[in-house]
Amino acid sequence: MKKFIFIIILLVNIVIFGNYYIVNYYVQSGDTIYTLSKKFSVSPSIILDWNDIDPYSLKIGQVIKIPQPEGILYEVKQGDTLYDISLRFFTTIDAIKSANNLKNNYIYVGQKLFVPTSKIGLAFNVYDKDFIWPVFGRLTSTYGMREHPIYHKVSFHTGIDLAAPEGTPIFSATKGVVELAGPYGGYGLAVIVRYGKYEIVYGHLSKVCVYKGQTISEGELIGRVGSTGVSTGPHLHFEVRINGNHTNPIVFLPSYNRMYVLKSDNIYVGGE
Ligand SMILES: [Zn+2]
Repeated sequence: MKKFIFIIILLVNIVIFGNYYIVNYYVQSGDTIYTLSKKFSVSPSIILDWNDIDPYSLKIGQVIKIPQPEGILYEVKQGDTLYDISLRFFTTIDAIKSANNLKNNYIYVGQKLFVPTSKIGLAFNVYDKDFIWPVFGRLTSTYGMREHPIYHKVSFHTGIDLAAPEGTPIFSATKGVVELAGPYGGYGLAVIVRYGKYEIVYGHLSKVCVYKGQTISEGELIGRVGSTGVSTGPHLHFEVRINGNHTNPIVFLPSYNRMYVLKSDNIYVGGE
């Protein structure tokens, strides 16, 4: 028993915050993102979000931060209100306040707010469609012909654009298996998820939180909004392909004014 306790102390140390703590785990021989996710009951996406690591080659002795309970951080930006942030996590103001011991609605730029996974997605609209909105944002460009914002030539826009602040979490619109996670030409950092006959493309990310081959569920964190690749500002390019051909993604999503609908009590709050 004594030896067991000694080993535990050697392998981890713990930093405690308000209502959560971070385990600093030292990678051992044989560890993978997948085995760690099982060991700590945390999704691989959450581990990748908290750490800048190569998911394919962990190094022995490398320190990995793991939040307990499972959840993600959001750094408050100029102009953010608690309401804005609650929308971006598809959760409620009260959920964020209680997770961070906030007594009132005052927040400040640079503050790091913790949002437990258990509270994310309380307002994912899962009533009327197979897909959910992956980001709470402003629809700035629809599918179809348009003048390209950078090249100023009329061309076909193969998806929709959802503008949202850099760092806004992106949640998988469907379940599926990750086919690509990383640089993808003009799409910048991107994720492609295979779901049945569909391929769903997420472009211009600032951070990718999944790895190729990962099985993900609907609503799971897959990355953060950014402006990588050919892009004029932070937004998500969301594209749906069937047998390699792009198609209008709006068809698969709940209507735009049902981007945020609380599940628990059916309060209709609506989109932006
Ligand atoms: Zn686009």
